[in-house]
Amino acid sequence: MRPTISPPPSLSPDEVEKILKQEFDLSGQIELLPGDIGQNFHVTTGDGREFLFKIANPVEDRFSLEAQNKVLAYLNLQNFDFQLPKIIPNLKGAEITEIKDHRGHCHLARLFTWLKGEFLAEINLEDKPDLLEDLGHVLGSLDRALADLTLPHARRYWHWDLKNLLDWQELTAYISSSPRKRLVEYFLLQFETEVVPEFAHLRRSLIYNDANDYNILVTKSPAGHWKIAGLIDFGDMVESYLLFEPAVALAYTISSAEDPLEAALPLLKGYNSVLPLSEKEIRLLYYCLAGRLCLSLMMSAYQQHLRPEDNYVTISEKAVWRLLQKWQTINPLQVEDRFRAALGLKPAPRGLPSELIINLRQKHLSRSLSLHYRRPLKIVRGALQYLYDEEGKTYLDCINNVAHVGHCHPRVVRAGQRQSALLNTNTRFLHDYLVAYAQRLLATLPESLKVIFLVNSGSEANELALRLAYTYTGRREMIVIDHAYHGNTSALIDLSPYKFKGPGGQGQGVWTHTVTMPDTYRGPYRSSDPEAAQKYAQEVIELIARLEAEGKGLAGFIAETVLGCGGQVPLPEGYLKTVYQAVRKAGGVCIADEVQIGFGRLGTHFWGFEQQQVVPDIVTMGKPIGNGHPLAAVATTSEIAAAFANGMEYFNTFGGNPVSCAIGLAVLEVIEEEQLQAHARRLGERLQQGFRELQQKYPVIGDVRGSGLFLGVELIKDPATLEPAPELATTVVEALKEEGILFSTEGPFNNVLKIKPPLVITKEDADRVLETLERILKDNT
Ligand code: PMP
Repeated sequence: MRPTISPPPSLSPDEVEKILKQEFDLSGQIELLPGDIGQNFHVTTGDGREFLFKIANPVEDRFSLEAQNKVLAYLNLQNFDFQLPKIIPNLKGAEITEIKDHRGHCHLARLFTWLKGEFLAEINLEDKPDLLEDLGHVLGSLDRALADLTLPHARRYWHWDLKNLLDWQELTAYISSSPRKRLVEYFLLQFETEVVPEFAHLRRSLIYNDANDYNILVTKSPAGHWKIAGLIDFGDMVESYLLFEPAVALAYTISSAEDPLEAALPLLKGYNSVLPLSEKEIRLLYYCLAGRLCLSLMMSAYQQHLRPEDNYVTISEKAVWRLLQKWQTINPLQVEDRFRAALGLKPAPRGLPSELIINLRQKHLSRSLSLHYRRPLKIVRGALQYLYDEEGKTYLDCINNVAHVGHCHPRVVRAGQRQSALLNTNTRFLHDYLVAYAQRLLATLPESLKVIFLVNSGSEANELALRLAYTYTGRREMIVIDHAYHGNTSALIDLSPYKFKGPGGQGQGVWTHTVTMPDTYRGPYRSSDPEAAQKYAQEVIELIARLEAEGKGLAGFIAETVLGCGGQVPLPEGYLKTVYQAVRKAGGVCIADEVQIGFGRLGTHFWGFEQQQVVPDIVTMGKPIGNGHPLAAVATTSEIAAAFANGMEYFNTFGGNPVSCAIGLAVLEVIEEEQLQAHARRLGERLQQGFRELQQKYPVIGDVRGSGLFLGVELIKDPATLEPAPELATTVVEALKEEGILFSTEGPFNNVLKIKPPLVITKEDADRVLETLERILKDNT
């Protein structure tokens, strides 16, 4: 849907001069003012009288102008202590004058009294809470008066009416920057989720609907006291939901504030003192304010597309973007808490207290589940790269690579919502999405991988990979890298040194063979040794020779390209080439576990194995593939797939269902359209460079490694011995959490800071991580 906005009328001051003389018997100086959809002229007569001559856009029909006139006449009868424009009829006594421009086009025009004052937009509001409180008061008074008015015409469809916000979603197509488009779509989704279902329970009223800072005039008394002088432009007036009035006013008046939340309080107090807001209205203000910012940005993007030469529409755009970005960093629950406190309400009741949840978990869930952080977090919402806890705090998420394209990415959420509403079945029925998704996923992989299996978790993917390897080779022996984790099933625990050697571990499976982690920082062969990769690979070659000598047939080798649980350790260059060769020579298959690192996270390549210039026989994928939806996959060659299709049906109730496929497709589309792999590379380089600069200053940083947005920072006590510093790593992680940044630790000694954020983090987020880490290192070393 597009708003039918005609270009504004384009009368010259000379034409206007003639019209004013003829219709109003006025003459004087005529100055064109900046305007939105209409044309406005400031008229100053020779004897010093001033007027506003307003020519309407063709979308504003006669009925709507008459309705505005009626409302103004009504409001002008009230005893307000601020001014509103008054209509001056033409010589024939008509309030609306039909005029013709030089091309013979008819327009509707009105003459108003001129209100004196300065625009609120041109005043620094930072130190003027009283003025904003006065504005709240003015709007409250206006709305209180309007509440008694019913005007059939105000029940019109109007594009600036926030209740129609979602009708304009397709205008996001005109926002050229993908991070901005994503943010607008995110807030549209929030509006749809939080506000729209409440429409039936919200107060309706006739509202002014345009308290933007170029419609609000202010004056300063001789004593230096600022106050609202008046309001102009009633063109957006509409019957809608009352809370949109303060939401619109806030959207404009807090846009340049350092602390927008604090800046919002006086206006709200002023409004609430005249017209108290309901608890629901207070809660929804966060989303309505964001909604209005989105509406402005969408309209402005569309206007720029229609009239690229006209820059009026972009006047406040920069400030609006800045506010929307800032708004995303503010937890909506904090906004609700602060608004309620400012209006004298007790805190809103929330969900179960954390302590109770912990108790109930201990009672009803397995104690083998673990929790992040000394004081576990109760996260209630995700907003792209941010997480909101129930206490109102916002966290930058640097631990959830699962939320690959951002928590609640609007495209992905909508894909899942839509398909859930249509159908969810299994692969025993034909469905377009299953094959579309398989094709799309295979297109990202090397030619030789031709068959996809869809499953529900990384573990299930690796479990199936093992079955494929076993069936294809007819053997069982598997080689794995030390400290690796490949999943939670029995077979995979037996194959995951991270588990079978760890607490509660029962030792490796009979078919498992572990090789040294090729860690060139701390392992037996280090980065100073040009042969390190080959020496580590040699161990695999020798192991295979031993197995063959013992008559044990090799089924395969499984590894990640950057070892996650091993402590974000990238495999040294050339390692996999040599290992894959040896494994294949022995008749085994090569499995690349891309569960953590795939889908562009490494920045340089879409898949981790591509960094090692190898082509696996089986690739397993999980975590990021569904952006949080339980989806995982296995890709393999036609030969391996053929061997597996030996008559036994492979059925997976949920694997490959249409909802999962719709979500998987959306994730791939978003990665491509938003160019997130290139973004991961740029941001990763920025972070790595920053970490390296910190390494120069803080010798506790022993190593900085990884690729793209899969990074590790290893903390040590002594550069000579490389003695690990796990306590410091925990201290840093806890301190970062206090500062609103989520990190975790990893590695055999738990001394590696692990960084794997959603790919949508920004430069500003990355810089904040670096500044905060530096502060924490300064305080703790
Ligand atoms: N492989 C790797 C490399 C992993 O890191 C994980 C999970 N951490 C898995 C497999 C298992 O995935 P899931 O937890 O989805 O079963």
